[in-house]
Amino acid sequence: MKTVERTDERILSSDIFERERGSSRPDLGRWFEPGRDIPVYHRCDVLVVGGGPSGTAAAAAAAKQGADVALLERYNHLGGLSTGGLVIWIDRMTDWSGELVIRGFAEELFDRLPADAVAGPSRAEWGSRDAARAGYWSHRTAAYHGVVTWSPTIDPERLKLLSQDIVLERKVKLIYHSWGSWPIVENGQVRGVVFESKEGRMAVMARVVVDATGDGDMFARAGAAYDNDIEEADVHHCMNTSWLFGGVDMKRWIDFKTGEPEKHAAFMQGGREQLGLFERPFVSWRNDVALFMGPRQSGYSALNVDDLTEVEVKSHRAMAAHLEYFRRHAPGFENAYMMLSAPQIGVRHARRLRGVGAVLRTQWPDGIALPDEVGVSPAVSPKFPNISIPYGALVPERLDGLLACGRHISCDKNSHGFMREIPQCWITGQAAGAAAALAVARNVEPRAVDVRELQAALLAQGVFLRPSEEAVQARAA
Ligand SMILES: Cc1cc2nc3c(=O)[nH]c(=O)nc-3n(C[C@H](O)[C@H](O)[C@H](O)COP(=O)(O)OP(=O)(O)OC[C@H]3O[C@@H](n4cnc5c(N)ncnc54)[C@H](O)[C@@H]3O)c2cc1C
Repeated sequence: MKTVERTDERILSSDIFERERGSSRPDLGRWFEPGRDIPVYHRCDVLVVGGGPSGTAAAAAAAKQGADVALLERYNHLGGLSTGGLVIWIDRMTDWSGELVIRGFAEELFDRLPADAVAGPSRAEWGSRDAARAGYWSHRTAAYHGVVTWSPTIDPERLKLLSQDIVLERKVKLIYHSWGSWPIVENGQVRGVVFESKEGRMAVMARVVVDATGDGDMFARAGAAYDNDIEEADVHHCMNTSWLFGGVDMKRWIDFKTGEPEKHAAFMQGGREQLGLFERPFVSWRNDVALFMGPRQSGYSALNVDDLTEVEVKSHRAMAAHLEYFRRHAPGFENAYMMLSAPQIGVRHARRLRGVGAVLRTQWPDGIALPDEVGVSPAVSPKFPNISIPYGALVPERLDGLLACGRHISCDKNSHGFMREIPQCWITGQAAGAAAALAVARNVEPRAVDVRELQAALLAQGVFLRPSEEAVQARAA
């Protein structure tokens, strides 16, 4: 195992670069795919491809802004990794003072989720530095650096259902079981997307396409420039399929972990020795369900079908091996069972758009609100102020007719460590959706959207911003 020094860039710890890359695929020849006419299935103002956190927020925001919206999703639900990927730990939405900076669509979700679908500290505790409370929540996903944060766990089925309700209430045309395969580009402008389904290949034509696939499938195939370098000290290049064990007692597990640290250390050591890559459980929204978001596997590409298959195979085997070990040795896991492995593989990073702007590491210390701010992210640690997210991070350097949002926005490899988190994906999704709707309404390309008008629209949608005076006045007018 390669040892890396702890840095602020690193959010969690990781066993990275354990795998040697295998040999490349043999050349088995080529097949010429003939061209053909395909039916246009739908026409709309804004097409969002991908219904994860960012795509759902984008579709909801564009529709709220008055656009005629379609949302294309390859699976049978919304929420992406936050539901089907079982990434049910929603990272920090408060800053280090306890102020809620991830608002707008995120706040609407938490206002509407049933109380028993969310586990986390009450609003009164956000930002608390009380050692006892921070100690309690640090074992329950909601305290870091001695500060209680709003970073709860959620019931994925409830989030799927609510996300679907929200977009349908706003008259979004929802298209499940449909895989966006190729963007339609004319004269450097994206005009729609070809998708594949049980009906074969069809097209959706749109005035603006929002790429929310997480992997930049649409902008990369449309020819936009992107980056894919990684931060070795971060975990963002690791992949795995998450899983849930049911039938556990997480309170007993935490009592063991905190009350018998030596036995816990021996348990972890034994796990590493017997299983190799070994993962610890996190609490979920219920005491009888444990969440495993690893073991993380490094050295794989999220864009290579052999790698994706190998990570799935290893993850499913790891799930069974962990069950056996935890049942035998972990207090609270005696009656555990394999409840569910995630339908969506856990990909943290594939491509990042090269945009007209970007979220950059150099920006972390200054905390300056950028003139085209469309959202605010909490900083990675209390030593930094909040970080400004510019509209330019969603706009391709050259390609028109398309915006990006979510974990593939324009940022450097360090900033990707937090810009890929679910709350930040809601923020950039909401911004992309509102901007796409404004581009349609004003009949301009997304890059020409009036940022003041966009900021006013986002403020009206409840987003936390530190906008220019003009935007505040535009909102009041
Ligand atoms: C194992 C793991 C642990 C993580 N831990 C945390 C954590 O603790 N807290 C946190 O906040 N974040 C965490 N993250 C990060 C976070 O889950 C993701 O970065 C975030 O969900 C990304 O949102 P997104 O909308 O950009 O993409 P995704 O969630 O990946 O959603 C993309 C959506 O697009 C669909 N799609 C993709 N391609 C196509 C296509 N061609 N056509 C149609 N549909 C398509 C997918 O099916 C999916 O629904 C973790 C991620 C992983 C993998």
